Amino acid sequence: MTIRTRVAPSPTGDPHVGTAYIALFNWVFARSHGGEFILRIEDTDQQRSTPESEQMILDSLRWLGLEWSEGPDVGGSCGPYRQSERGDIYAEHTDILLEKRAAFRCFCSVERLDVLRAEQMTNKQMPGYDGHCLHLKDDEVQAKVAAGEPYVVRLKVPSEGVCSVNDMLRGTIDIDWAQIDMQVLVKADGMPTYHLANVVDDHLMGITHVIRGEEWINSAPKHQLLYQYFGWDMPTLCHMPLLRNPDKSKLSKRKNPTSINYYRRMGYLPEAVLNYLGRMGWSMPDEREKFTLNEMVEHFDIQRLSLGGPIFDQEKLAWLSGRWIRENLTVDQFADRLFGEWLNDDYIKPFLPFAKERVERFTDFIALSGFMFTGMLDIKLDALTHKKLDDTGVKRALQFVLWRLEALREWDKDTIFAEIKRLATAIDLKVGELMQPIFVAIAGTSSSWSVVDSMAILGPDMSRARIRYAIDVLGGVSKKEGKRLDKEYKQLSES
Ligand code: GLU
Repeated sequence: MTIRTRVAPSPTGDPHVGTAYIALFNWVFARSHGGEFILRIEDTDQQRSTPESEQMILDSLRWLGLEWSEGPDVGGSCGPYRQSERGDIYAEHTDILLEKRAAFRCFCSVERLDVLRAEQMTNKQMPGYDGHCLHLKDDEVQAKVAAGEPYVVRLKVPSEGVCSVNDMLRGTIDIDWAQIDMQVLVKADGMPTYHLANVVDDHLMGITHVIRGEEWINSAPKHQLLYQYFGWDMPTLCHMPLLRNPDKSKLSKRKNPTSINYYRRMGYLPEAVLNYLGRMGWSMPDEREKFTLNEMVEHFDIQRLSLGGPIFDQEKLAWLSGRWIRENLTVDQFADRLFGEWLNDDYIKPFLPFAKERVERFTDFIALSGFMFTGMLDIKLDALTHKKLDDTGVKRALQFVLWRLEALREWDKDTIFAEIKRLATAIDLKVGELMQPIFVAIAGTSSSWSVVDSMAILGPDMSRARIRYAIDVLGGVSKKEGKRLDKEYKQLSES
């Protein structure tokens, strides 16, 4: 049997470090068994999925060197590899489930489900569907369908007993069926949910091992049930530990840059990023810290993965990246990488028009545009002094700016400016007054060219990271403060 693994990201935002982590272990597992690694795009959430996000995921995995043998861009014999193009396949499989009475149509209105959930909350019961439509007779169902009543399709779940699922790292996991909801498999708009599409695709794409994040453990019983209903063998499951921030909370962009784009823009060597991700919960038999992808493949044993949440620490990554640069690159290679991948025309040309208007000699250029080349700037508290706000006020304003920028779907100077302007009005500041600390956070000084131009070029990840850094210079936002600000912020957004 050929081992086949996959990574199945949803293209709903920046390419996440967690996606690269899961991709790496799937890639290495497949390679170490002479198998295949494939890439599938799970874009059934049409509202949140974007082609830009898909492209960024492909670009960043390629940048890391995790090539796939089948995928939306390279094709393959099990395509299409984009779920939004597999509608007919899911419809066919939904019919099979309905025919087998393994699934049923549910006509309950959103209002009824809301009332049900509220009642369950009041009675401290597990929230979940109560099986109301499970008992509809065939002719009732047909009549409703004929009358055009909207419906979803739900999974039939045993009402009692225990479901045992196997996990490569955890052994058998027992979960009571009573805890498993009658999952929606097909939404009212006819789109499948993750569960149906994922199971159907893993089967049809011949996936033998599903290595994914541990946040999916609770879905395993539903998936196992679907495999049984279809009469298919289930792939072997392996749930990886979640990456964590240094304070042990789940890795989140509120605390740590989570986008691969950020690490790329920061100028980390991709080899070092992969090496570091390879050390998240896993180690070489001789515990060496620095190893190549090929060495990882050579010595790979998934059982060496430990389940304690691995900490993704930027300082350790920087240390490892430094070792890679010093020990693995000749000066010529260093030059090639520096100029080829990083310090190149594509990056520099967009801000030359602004620099040109401000220099007298070429020697002025570096001092003027140094902030476009560095990572975090050495900002001092004094630089953030504001004529209208005290430090807490500046911190509050920057936190709101950060939240606005985190929510932006498009990243260009007009959109960024419009957002900052709207926020300034909402918090009673003139645009210039709100721009001032943003200038300092992004450029280190308020005398530079337009900060929105800089942000557009630096990209969302570096811009947000710098604003987050300025907030830290101002003392950071504690959990309690964060909650209060969040409340204020939400009121703003509604107004
Ligand atoms: N689309 C899911 C995700 O983004 C895939 C989970 C899985 O691998 O089954 O995490």
